[in-house]
Amino acid sequence: MYEKERQELIDCALSMEAQGLIVQSGGNVSRRMPCGNILMTPSAMAYGSMDPEDLVLMNPDGKIIEGTRRPSSDHQALLYIFKHMPQVNVILHTHQPYAVALSLVADELPACTTTLIDELQGAVPVAPFTRSSDEGMGISVVTHCNGSLAVILKHHGVMAYGKDPEQALSAAIYLEEGCKGYLAALATGRPVARLSAEQVAAESQERGYYGQP
Ligand SMILES: [Zn+2]
Repeated sequence: MYEKERQELIDCALSMEAQGLIVQSGGNVSRRMPCGNILMTPSAMAYGSMDPEDLVLMNPDGKIIEGTRRPSSDHQALLYIFKHMPQVNVILHTHQPYAVALSLVADELPACTTTLIDELQGAVPVAPFTRSSDEGMGISVVTHCNGSLAVILKHHGVMAYGKDPEQALSAAIYLEEGCKGYLAALATGRPVARLSAEQVAAESQERGYYGQP
């Protein structure tokens, strides 16, 4: 069941690895299927040798519907996010290093570039430390998301999400770019310029031109 979607999630994880957002078997990818069940990468398996049948299909309560592998150790947190954020269909969990670095020195990545507004819908919050692998991490993400397409988990990593794999992957990649730039600006020791609320609102408006018709 869901052969195409299973492969898409593995491809997504491989893109995360290629972009330096995860190493080895770190992180995970999960997706809400139209029937409401959740497809998830298995715990502690390398993505390069992962087959579509290694992914686990579970119902929203965590009951395994299909698959012989153990699901990601973060499954309780992921199920909580899916349950409480109905607009989210795909969640990527990464340990991307620049976002983690930022979490150690700041409480948010401010919406200081147009890319952050366009790709992440604005500032990205840093949620306080919670233990990994239990529901508390999911509660923290839902509590702190504040309209952003990602939450940085202090001392840990990132939850990036969206309506489909492309939007979630884009959020994770552009978040890393944004963190890199912001940390470089902070490292100069000079004040970091902010965009005003009006400028953020202007950039947030729908534009008719970007992309291909
Ligand atoms: Zn993690």
